Amino acid sequence: MKKVLITGGAGFLGSHLCDRFIEEGFYVIAMDNLITGDRKNIEHLFPLKQFEFYYHDVTKFVHIPGKLDYILHFASPASPIDYLKIPIQTLKVGSLGALNLLGLAKEKKATILVASTSEVYGDPLVHPQNEDYYGNVSPVGPRGVYDEAKRFMESITMAYHRFHGLDTRIARIFNTYGPRMRLNDGRVVPAFMGQALRGEDLTIFGDGSQTRSFCFIDDQVEGIYRLLFSDYVDPINIGNPHEVTIKEFAEEIIKLTGTNQKIVYRPLPEDDPLQRQPEITKAKEILGWEPKVMREEGLKIVYDYFKSLNPNELQKREHRNFL
Ligand code: UDP
Repeated sequence: MKKVLITGGAGFLGSHLCDRFIEEGFYVIAMDNLITGDRKNIEHLFPLKQFEFYYHDVTKFVHIPGKLDYILHFASPASPIDYLKIPIQTLKVGSLGALNLLGLAKEKKATILVASTSEVYGDPLVHPQNEDYYGNVSPVGPRGVYDEAKRFMESITMAYHRFHGLDTRIARIFNTYGPRMRLNDGRVVPAFMGQALRGEDLTIFGDGSQTRSFCFIDDQVEGIYRLLFSDYVDPINIGNPHEVTIKEFAEEIIKLTGTNQKIVYRPLPEDDPLQRQPEITKAKEILGWEPKVMREEGLKIVYDYFKSLNPNELQKREHRNFL
């Protein structure tokens, strides 16, 4: 049985990857320090013999006994309000965490896939963003802690590939949504849906003309899975190119949820990218992958998930003690 280590395994993307690898017959080790991840996302896997959970911070030395075939490094805060609250951990998990896992991959002769991000393009001056674009990131701005950690991670991953011949993959993940996002993580999908469910106005930051392109979780997992089993080493965009302004998006959420609330406007956070849309020609040609789930369908699934949560969850604004 092939063994895979998934860091951030109790998080949104990580837990869905755990499910997928279990379904595909792998032995799965999920590792998480539960700062932004949640045990509930993987509790259903605990009874399985081919699943283990390690409560561990990957910025500390990582030890896995025995053989290991694959590593997926998905540990990191991923929402702007999280990484603004825990900037040092965000920098450490993308840099020291990546370094530890690359070292582990070398030791075990494992293939490693790292979760990079569209944030490596920063506030992009090229639109849509293709993999050859170097990006427009402010290293010292508030979002720099995430963006630069991920840029460093890409750099050191390529260095391990070139210098040690390590088998590596780099997924540049664009905005992804789905069940198991934290209602209070501040990202726009849970933010708007939480507001609609609580009967609050929807807060648009800026004038709402900024764009994003949202990918449903099942499509994202399929793209990542295909990338791991391809032999493609350079970074590759995985996202849904269907672009929408945040204002149009808010209107879609109002229609979907039937809320009577209105839209209110708040200041645009510093360094908030004005446009974002993945160019996915490479993913199509190399992985034979493209997203299949339309936004209308995916948003309904995630809204049903949020509605199914315990009402206490809905009221909780902040339930985590950041270290
Ligand atoms: N946004 C918003 N209202 C909210 C939360 C987010 O208008 O309550 C905007 C945010 O400023 C950004 C976009 O929605 O322009 C997407 O934000 P998110 O935090 O989901 O992800 P990002 O793509 O910025 O990392």
